[in-house]
Amino acid sequence: MKYISTRGKLEECSFEDVVLAGLAPEGGLYIPTHIPSLPDDWKTAWENLSYQDLAVKIISLFVSEDEVPHNELQALVEKTYAVNPLAFRKDSITPLIEMTPQKLYVLELFHGPTYAFKDLALQLVGNLFEYFLTRRNKRKSPGEKPEKLTVVGATSGDTGSAAIYGLRKKDNISVFIMFPKGRVSQIQEAQMTTVLDPNVHNLSVSGTFDNCQDILKALLADKEFNEKHSLGAVNSINWARILCQIVYYFSAYFQLRKLPSFENGSEIQFVVPTGNFGDILAGYYAKRLGLPMGKLGVATNQNDILARFWKSGAYEKVDPKSPPVEGGVHATTSPAMDIAVSSNFERLLWYLAYEKAQGTGDNEKRAAACTQVDKWMKDVKKSGSVDLTDVLTAAQRDFVAHKVDDKETLKTIGEYYSGEKGGKSYLVDPHTAVGLSAAELFASTSDSKSTVQIVLSTAHPAKFADAVEKALGENSSFDPKTVFGNLLERERRVEHIEGAEHELVGLVKNVIDKFASQ
Ligand SMILES: *Cc1c(COP(=O)(O)O)cnc(C)c1O
Repeated sequence: MKYISTRGKLEECSFEDVVLAGLAPEGGLYIPTHIPSLPDDWKTAWENLSYQDLAVKIISLFVSEDEVPHNELQALVEKTYAVNPLAFRKDSITPLIEMTPQKLYVLELFHGPTYAFKDLALQLVGNLFEYFLTRRNKRKSPGEKPEKLTVVGATSGDTGSAAIYGLRKKDNISVFIMFPKGRVSQIQEAQMTTVLDPNVHNLSVSGTFDNCQDILKALLADKEFNEKHSLGAVNSINWARILCQIVYYFSAYFQLRKLPSFENGSEIQFVVPTGNFGDILAGYYAKRLGLPMGKLGVATNQNDILARFWKSGAYEKVDPKSPPVEGGVHATTSPAMDIAVSSNFERLLWYLAYEKAQGTGDNEKRAAACTQVDKWMKDVKKSGSVDLTDVLTAAQRDFVAHKVDDKETLKTIGEYYSGEKGGKSYLVDPHTAVGLSAAELFASTSDSKSTVQIVLSTAHPAKFADAVEKALGENSSFDPKTVFGNLLERERRVEHIEGAEHELVGLVKNVIDKFASQ
């Protein structure tokens, strides 16, 4: 399997290059050259596989045997999804929980080290980075300098901790995570800064998340600095992250079919709390691979650029009817979905453009799709919006979308906790609550009577304790300490980056220069 960039015409890259580079040089995102085929007997042959074995089957569809030999991929996957208190805490890795009435299920994706779904991907990405670097270094002649990788990231919370847990203790890799001082939750900050491994560096930066992201962009664009340190990125555009996430859609399907409550012939709808469109895009790939499902449900919070697109076909950063007060986004109770634009949406747009493209051969259509996506993305960058009505109907064939506001989100947490909904007391985090609430709307507006819904649960409720406490009031027995123990009191290590805005990039560079080579 080879990869092309959504804006790069036809140049093909290896999986290794795609994983290590993250973003394509001209700003595009990598996608596989084609959607592979499942083996004819996948439904029976894969039915009883462990999560790990299923992951190997799916990942190897997208990674050629001559790039990563099968036994080495198997070893990487087994190391990644190890079941123990420090890695994944459940045998099934992503358990499916049954709600009643029995047409609703929750897929829990938060049983990894940092209690959010990003662990499923970033644990494997860390191992892939290490695997490729080690292999490159083995091929070098004695005396040649080993290749190193300096991973830099900007986080408003969950990505940073998941990346740190995925990269700690890895040979030849150092990781620098910037977060806005005082603007990530206490638990998130503690999860990052209590990791004391010498290759992990936390930078608490004065300013907002946007400042951190601007610093990151400046570092990546600085050719000399980039070459000196071989910078790598772990943000949600890395193809390997999408790839790992396809696995749990299949796992959910097999778990569902084994439940006595499942009626054969029911249509399955996955509903996904969505920000950067990475989690749900993996569902789209699962659908294209042939996993039987109905329309995927996009659930957004008040930052609803996607929900607005699926209504009107306009892709607009700012909703003219409800412009955000500060920083380009609305601050909500589901902060991991507070985005202005959804970076992975570009990958879906490529497929929609390909479908529309005029041309005879596959190559001609691919090139036309790249040209179209490049133009759309430049328009968004320049003017903050682009008209996509041409591809709206095609997009509506595979997706429905709905926005859920904070009030509804908190109400939903309460309704599931009390058992008024779901048939038992079940506590969810605010992101999952956005999914549950949207699922209800999708169910009530669908024509199909036999739809079964699976809502993806993206974080453990204790991780977003403030919102959960607000939803439940004082009388609940909810206590995040039972999950995180003394995390908040543990020893921390963090570099403080304080200065005027124009000085920040220089200050961050100094810290990287000081620590990266160690
Ligand atoms: C990152 C994140 C999301 C959004 O996922 P995308 O892939 O960006 O759509 C949702 N919930 C939680 C808890 C997250 O950390």
